[in-house]
Amino acid sequence: MRLRNIKGADEAIERSEFVIKNPEEHKEKWTEVFGNNNPIHMEIGMGKGQFIMELAEQNPQINYIGVERYSSVLLRALQKREGKELTNLFFLCQDAKKIEDMFGRDEISKIYLNFSDPWPKDRHAKRRLTSKEFLNRYKKILDKSGQIEFKTDNRPLFEFSLEQVEEAGWLLEEYTFDLHHNEKMCQGNVMTEYEQKFSAMGNPICKMILKPGSK
Ligand code: SAH
Repeated sequence: MRLRNIKGADEAIERSEFVIKNPEEHKEKWTEVFGNNNPIHMEIGMGKGQFIMELAEQNPQINYIGVERYSSVLLRALQKREGKELTNLFFLCQDAKKIEDMFGRDEISKIYLNFSDPWPKDRHAKRRLTSKEFLNRYKKILDKSGQIEFKTDNRPLFEFSLEQVEEAGWLLEEYTFDLHHNEKMCQGNVMTEYEQKFSAMGNPICKMILKPGSK
């Protein structure tokens, strides 16, 4: 998601108490940020935050972090968050490439990747959030029973991701090429903004759940 630059977005983010400014300083100490020991779940590439905000409202016993690299997009999430009494949700305006600098070993229990940028050119494969390069980064911060949940309507990206899961030695727990017609996997499904948009256009939604293997 790329919105035109919005004047004042950087300043609004700088001022917001809901955006953690120097995440590296909280590495291995995120429990202090939330003030409790609840598990931390994160969405990387959260866009305007519809999905993670709904999860945070549904699950007060889980802490949430939404990561979005563009300030103009994150600003929209901040505006939506206003007026909500949420104590379990913070945002980061960061590139996920540096995720290991911000979180320590076992600090995260679940990572959501929803409708991640496809980077269709082969030479950009390493930038895909489900590439083995990224999977290796996530492995360093996920706890032992940690999982990744990935949804997309982009079939080539999904197939690439299935290959990467295997190459990186991760375990595929479940997957489907048509989430909305898979009764089991669709149970409790929270729709993202892109999911609503693309499924309304008739695109089937693919989903996989994976966890780091021992390799
Ligand atoms: N998850 C949302 C938005 C999907 S669009 C939804 O499903 O509706 C993908 C978003 O990921 C974009 O807003 C893009 O800016 C963000 N993104 C892509 N690569 C990223 C990265 N490396 N770090 C942080 N955010 C990223």
